[in-house]
Amino acid sequence: MKTIRVIIAGPRGRMGQEAVRLMERTSHFQLVAAVDYKHGGKRIADLEGLPALDAPIYESLEECLQKEQADVLLDLTTPEIGKQHIHTALQHDLRSVIGTTGFTEEEIQQLTRTAEEKKVGTIIAPNFAIGAILMMKFAQTAAKYFQDVEVIELHHDQKLDAPSGTALKTVDLIRTAREPKQQGHPNETEQLQGARGAEVDGIHIHSVRLPGLIAHQEVLFGGDGQMLTIRHDSFNRASFMSGVKMSIETVMNLETLVYGLENIVD
Ligand code: NAP
Repeated sequence: MKTIRVIIAGPRGRMGQEAVRLMERTSHFQLVAAVDYKHGGKRIADLEGLPALDAPIYESLEECLQKEQADVLLDLTTPEIGKQHIHTALQHDLRSVIGTTGFTEEEIQQLTRTAEEKKVGTIIAPNFAIGAILMMKFAQTAAKYFQDVEVIELHHDQKLDAPSGTALKTVDLIRTAREPKQQGHPNETEQLQGARGAEVDGIHIHSVRLPGLIAHQEVLFGGDGQMLTIRHDSFNRASFMSGVKMSIETVMNLETLVYGLENIVD
């Protein structure tokens, strides 16, 4: 298999560290450089806890792209920086795999237009865990038969955005299959604001943030005398790496933007 040259933005983060290890153990991936605003001028091997790889670190993606040739940018930073990096990558005709969340529908549409005009493969993956992708697909199937559904997503307390990108994507998929319905009693009131969670098209989404958690989600379908629960748990960040690997390989053959791995997992 041809070697794929990768830049990782956010190599010190929990996802970033796993991704650097993925680079080290995957023979057809080469980590050519990393972007870390706190460690420009160093090398990956200089960072504590990271494998002894010789890749240089740049303070910004712009600077990195002036000096390095790469095939794919893998961004594992923050929602704000991920948005900046996807634009920079497209400007430089560089394929990207973006693991950060928080993109609006409008932003996705605009980015898709740009990616298609430039024929630059781009993947935004709100969730890299293949099990979570299957959870969303199973929920979409169940929604044909169960109109009554609520989503509970649970994440660690350092997560910046709520609800999670996965919860929003799950609801999007459910909406394609479910007859519209306002969940709950038509006259229900909240004694405390937010008690019923956020709402999209009558579907309620509840976000839990606690230390100790990683990324978890339950989709609850209620019916007469029965309940179907579809649940996925990521217990550590290694759970995301098979999806990261698949995304880096797949983006090499794309000329458009794919939002969500459910579009590439059969
Ligand atoms: P994390 O541990 O906080 O890592 C984020 C890293 O990005 C930190 O090291 C941070 O450095 C660094 N960073 C911030 N601004 C930067 C910049 N301008 N340039 C380079 N690096 C920068 O978070 P995480 O758990 O690894 O998650 C990383 C991202 O992936 C988050 O957005 C998270 O929501 C997302 N995520 C996605 C999935 C998925 O399946 N798609 C799964 C888990 C997490 P400082 O801390 O020093 O600022």
